[in-house]
Amino acid sequence: MAENKMDKIVSLCKRRGFIFQTAEIYGGMQGVYDYGPLGVELANNIKRAWWESMIYQRDDIEGLDSSILGSQNIFAQSGHEDTFTDPLIDCKDCKFRMRADTLDELKCPNCGSTNLTEPRDFNLMFKTNIGPIDDGSSIAYLRPETAQHIFINFKNVLDSTSRTLPFGIAQVGKAFRNEITARNFIFRKREFEQMEMEYFVEPKDDEKFHEYWIKERMKWWLDQGLNEDNLEIFNVPKEELSHYSKATADIMYKFPHGTEELEGIANRTDFDLGSHTKSQEEFNIQAKTKENKASKAKLAFQDKISNKWLVPYVIEPSAGVERAFLAILNDAYKEETLKNDTKRVVLSLKKHLSPIKVAVIPLKKNEKSIVNASVEIKNRLLKLNIGRVAVENTGNIGKSYRKHDEIGTPICITVDYDTIEKNKVTFRDRDTMEQEVIGLKDIETSILKLFKG
Ligand code: ATP
Repeated sequence: MAENKMDKIVSLCKRRGFIFQTAEIYGGMQGVYDYGPLGVELANNIKRAWWESMIYQRDDIEGLDSSILGSQNIFAQSGHEDTFTDPLIDCKDCKFRMRADTLDELKCPNCGSTNLTEPRDFNLMFKTNIGPIDDGSSIAYLRPETAQHIFINFKNVLDSTSRTLPFGIAQVGKAFRNEITARNFIFRKREFEQMEMEYFVEPKDDEKFHEYWIKERMKWWLDQGLNEDNLEIFNVPKEELSHYSKATADIMYKFPHGTEELEGIANRTDFDLGSHTKSQEEFNIQAKTKENKASKAKLAFQDKISNKWLVPYVIEPSAGVERAFLAILNDAYKEETLKNDTKRVVLSLKKHLSPIKVAVIPLKKNEKSIVNASVEIKNRLLKLNIGRVAVENTGNIGKSYRKHDEIGTPICITVDYDTIEKNKVTFRDRDTMEQEVIGLKDIETSILKLFKG
């Protein structure tokens, strides 16, 4: 199953409305995708789970939702204009384009030719300009990461919330990178979403909090249903670290196409605040930063007791929504052979991630009393606020179960003549396929027990 698991996931995503290729009717755009009706639910549920763990289940992190457009100053100071590049190579024979750093040998992976161009640096940022005149004086960038807007808002958040160290700022949102090789379905996209949190600490505490966040984030991935055997920590060797990083631990995941980065957890030192602050000379900034003559704010923290100013260090867990989506689908996807030798595909998603929480299925499509009772049950369950509850009125109970197994609906409720005559419904569990008869008056309590524990 391993070698074509990606194909199976891609096919399921399209068939059931998780993911569509952007502009497919015009031949598609490479590395750009749209979420369908179920995909938007799964993606929102992933983002919600992340937000809850960062903001609601603790009290030391504030949220932010910044703009996507960023001024040239931001990315000049952050180093992105100079260094956010990949080495690009073209095959002169078949015109295949590739990243030099991904090749094992200098040979075109498409046609085998060694007739390649020299590598040249290609900046991954999407550039645009603000206003009607494109004379190069009003350059803006679509942010290539959400992090920089967190750093430039450091003082705003600090002043408006009176936080003390350590504290964090979290943000979920779009990022754009003009990737040379946007491949492997949604693993590498040109427009994607990040879930990033910048945790500001006293410089002396950086290593302690780096360790802490690696553990916290691993726990979170396990809570999303990922198989521990598919996860590993990779400590990035010193010579491969990004320019801002003192140490980076990547959480690697065994994707269907290979083991690759799911999340990066970096110790960014005082590089970012140090790069964006004014009066750099007043602080003992450890990182090598570019001189900043444009900033109008001191991005530093004053200790209330000693009155000393310091530029905090930053620990950054940065995860991609799409990579989370793909990893979660990969671990949830199962093909099972049932007792009667039939097969079923089941998505064993954790309940909080399932796009549809409960499907209410009338046994007969055209039997008014049964259909009406189903709609009534759905309306009662909607009031519980657990997420999507749907009536599945296809008239074919077997087909309905198969569909909801395949999209990961944890509970199906079957409505039949017993519902009308004896006030009873049947709950069917997605994973065990076990059925249980429940009294109509108890459906809310039973569902709440299943979803809220
Ligand atoms: P890679 O080495 O795979 O290109 P990266 O090291 O450039 O990733 P970061 O800059 O650390 O990635 O970004 C943080 C996270 O954002 C990554 O762990 C990943 O989950 C996500 N991410 C980065 N680039 C993309 C992309 N092109 N498509 C989808 N997700 C991405």
